[in-house]
Amino acid sequence: MKKFHIITIFPEVIGPYATASILGRAQSKKLAEVIAHDLRSFSTDKHRKVDDAPYGGGAGMVMTVQPFADAIKAIKKSAKKRSVCIVVTSASGQRFTEADAVRLSAYDELVFLCGRYEGIDQRVIDNLADESLSIGDYVLTGGELPALVMTDAIIRLIPGVLGNAETLAEESHTVEGVLEYPQYTKPETYILKVGRKTTNLVVPPVLLSGNHAAIKKWRALQAKIAPKKEA
Ligand code: SAM
Repeated sequence: MKKFHIITIFPEVIGPYATASILGRAQSKKLAEVIAHDLRSFSTDKHRKVDDAPYGGGAGMVMTVQPFADAIKAIKKSAKKRSVCIVVTSASGQRFTEADAVRLSAYDELVFLCGRYEGIDQRVIDNLADESLSIGDYVLTGGELPALVMTDAIIRLIPGVLGNAETLAEESHTVEGVLEYPQYTKPETYILKVGRKTTNLVVPPVLLSGNHAAIKKWRALQAKIAPKKEA
């Protein structure tokens, strides 16, 4: 079973997402386990402090090395010989992609370090983490959502987690740069009323034709190529 450790000062926000839907099912089937660790429980400070003022001055607080170092040590010890990757969540890290999800899914245990405030002491990033990953070019208040985003993307790839194996093969980004074709479901016509205007929203006729070769061709034509990212 793959383990996903999320080290945070808000462990209570992890469970509700990680126990719902597909992640919850993966955990019930014992294919994955998501464990939220309270960073404060590793602090040696008598007030369970995990942050301090930045050297050199400036606004906000910085998360200290000691609680992260001890949390990582404890998780690595309990992992024994299983492979472990330590990922620090950071707005300035490398952009997380589907290829990273595939690569990270090879590890037995993943450890996500969640920052808050101004972020985490750089010595954690340089010396204790294996990777520094960002989920996009914007700043969130903490690393919990990025850790859950990455956990979700990786758990979906574990064999047996998704009901239908074909789902993965045709999804956006499975082949780099290729996005999935548009999907439609019942009813065949939806009547949209906005003010006095009525519009019939119809399904592309080819999808109702029963002609599987034509449907396959249409879908291949519709599958979009993702715009190339700037280096
Ligand atoms: N001062 C930092 C900066 O300018 O890059 C932002 C710190 S942010 C308020 C606090 C924490 O949220 C970060 O340490 C990181 O763990 C997490 N975080 C925020 N945005 C993120 C993103 N786009 N991807 C990954 N983690 C992010």
